[in-house]
Amino acid sequence: MLATTRSSSSLTLVADAARLLATDGPISSRVDGVLNIMRRALGFHDGRVSRVAEGTGRSIREQWTITNGWDEPWVDDVLDAAVAARAPIRRIVRRRGSDALPEGLITHYCAPIAWDGQLWGAVEVRAAGGSAIGLVEQTSIAALVPLLAVALAGDAGNGSAAPVGELTGRQRNWLQSLRETMEAPLALTALLNQLLEWALEATGAEAGSISLVDHQRGELILQAHQGYGRDPLGFDSYGEPRRAWSWDHGIPGRAARTGRPLVVRDVGNLPDFQASNPAVRAELAVPIAHDGQALAVLVLDSARATAFAPREVAVITALCEAANQPLRRAVAYQESLESSTHLRQVFDNLPIGLALVDKHGRVLRHNGAWLSVWGLGASSGGEPFVLQLDLVERLLQRIPDPLAFTDFCTSGQHAPAEVKSLAVRLHAPHQDIHVLSVPTRDSLGQLTGRVWMVSDVTREREADRVKSEFISVVSHELRTPLTSILGYTELLLERQFAPAEQREFVQTVYDEASHLATIVEDLLGVTRLEAGTMRLNQWVVSTKQLINEVMSQIKIQLTNRHRLVVDIPAQIPPVYVDRDKVKQILFNLLTNAVKYSPAGGEVTLSIREPAALPPEHPPGSFLIVKVSDQGMGIPEVDSPHIWERFYRVDNSNTRRIGGTGLGLFIVKGLVELHGGRIWVTSAVGRGSVFTLTLPVATEFVRA
Ligand code: ADP
Repeated sequence: MLATTRSSSSLTLVADAARLLATDGPISSRVDGVLNIMRRALGFHDGRVSRVAEGTGRSIREQWTITNGWDEPWVDDVLDAAVAARAPIRRIVRRRGSDALPEGLITHYCAPIAWDGQLWGAVEVRAAGGSAIGLVEQTSIAALVPLLAVALAGDAGNGSAAPVGELTGRQRNWLQSLRETMEAPLALTALLNQLLEWALEATGAEAGSISLVDHQRGELILQAHQGYGRDPLGFDSYGEPRRAWSWDHGIPGRAARTGRPLVVRDVGNLPDFQASNPAVRAELAVPIAHDGQALAVLVLDSARATAFAPREVAVITALCEAANQPLRRAVAYQESLESSTHLRQVFDNLPIGLALVDKHGRVLRHNGAWLSVWGLGASSGGEPFVLQLDLVERLLQRIPDPLAFTDFCTSGQHAPAEVKSLAVRLHAPHQDIHVLSVPTRDSLGQLTGRVWMVSDVTREREADRVKSEFISVVSHELRTPLTSILGYTELLLERQFAPAEQREFVQTVYDEASHLATIVEDLLGVTRLEAGTMRLNQWVVSTKQLINEVMSQIKIQLTNRHRLVVDIPAQIPPVYVDRDKVKQILFNLLTNAVKYSPAGGEVTLSIREPAALPPEHPPGSFLIVKVSDQGMGIPEVDSPHIWERFYRVDNSNTRRIGGTGLGLFIVKGLVELHGGRIWVTSAVGRGSVFTLTLPVATEFVRA
């Protein structure tokens, strides 16, 4: 706030002084007026402007003084020192006491009025106290120096009315708008556009621009422009309008590097002048500088070779000098705006749920992912959302242990400095959520609340489960056949057995080794299906022949407890399938039917040409294949999951039977690769029916 007031008062001062100096009337009254404005704005006791002639030594031609009733005589040593050094001097002196003012310290400040390489005079101010006339006042005085120089130069020492020219109504409006606009804090682009407009109006230049200076890259970055057309710097290689250019080129580049104003009149004399437009005859580049370093460069171009007379240069320079503080403020504001925008974009778009929570558990701010992780709709507008009340209440139906969750929500209040984490499991739909709650602190290190990071880890947990099941299944299913292979081969190596016995042992070793080979084959099948690298070798295949082949294969496995029924119509079209894969599908289903009906019963394989397919089935011509048994059946809760990798219905029967839980995953994958579908209907204790569809070889049928 302070910066705004100071910078705008400095601008107001320049505007007031410019208006006064540009009026008609004797130079003495105009300088007096300026001194009075300065005293009111800057609060010093007395002031003096001296016209100093150039030459050897000091030669004061004229002096104008204003006083606040002090009787302190002016001493010229500060003036002499400033003129000799061509630089402002600030000196603290002790004064004798008098009626008007008691004894004490006085600050005496003198700034030489030098312009365009020439010395015109000096302005001095004095104020009571050793700490008066600080940096702010000095900056304001520096901003006035170019105006005073123009007034003294225009007056040329003859005391007559200055040929500065009368202020037009437009100029008066200009000053008025300058004063008013600068009072309000401005966004960067608004400020620069406004400055440019003022500069164009004040000089009558036809075109102009303002660019920020990037000292690290040595570049000027165009921010505002007028009168050059739409995209004055052309386009970059991506077809985007170019905005930056190197400061190694042109008058603006030189002004940016040196921090000094430059003017070129009649550019025809300058061979390396790069005009943005062939009509340009004069160019003025004035830096808006701080501590001698250019923050921005204001460039004005004119078609008049004689444009930018000293008076105009002075006004533009004063304008740029006065704009230094507002510009720094606007740049800082812009930078903080940009970084807060970046931060907000990251916060809003992060796929992890984030919520800022105060000390009482109230959610101050959250992103979209936070709502979606919990499955909540947009929060009701403006209502405070409290973790331990609202969140728990909304999740009540889905959370198995609401008390533990409430405890976690409030735990931040008992131990505000601790980092906490919690794994939450939600039902319907099943969801695993991980919550990390980290304390937050303000810039003074005081605890302000917490930030909650919530992520849906259902998939990760599922992957963990699959991984551990894989390890347990593989270790169990591989170990069992391996143990028996090792046991029997050891026996065979140790002793001589009767030939019949020996053959039986070798047969067992062979069976167990084939079982191992099947498991390994299944594991490879799963990997290929998941990677999408499983390929089908599809041919027109006789359905009857295919079934016969499967039957002779499965018969070997059957004991006399099961009866195998095959139900195929006499006329059945051929299928268009990968023969080996379909045999694998049917063999798997039939083996399961036998395996999961340990008490025996009927196992049926039936094939039909359906009148209609189920509604959600893909269109086309398919045969329906059913494998049914009268076995243990599948509980309803398990039946959606039996198609998942490593999923096994867990009960004492299935544990005894053994298996990897890979068969149905592969079966489903292979059926779907053929364009078909598979589903199951089952009743516990009564049996299961697996139904699948296989594509009919339609071309063949028509032929
Ligand atoms: P595996 O038989 O190696 O365990 P599957 O993927 O072939 O693996 O079957 C998955 C699970 O589905 C089995 O563990 C079993 O619990 C159940 N299941 C499969 N077929 C049947 C069936 N015909 N009757 C009862 N349960 C079955």
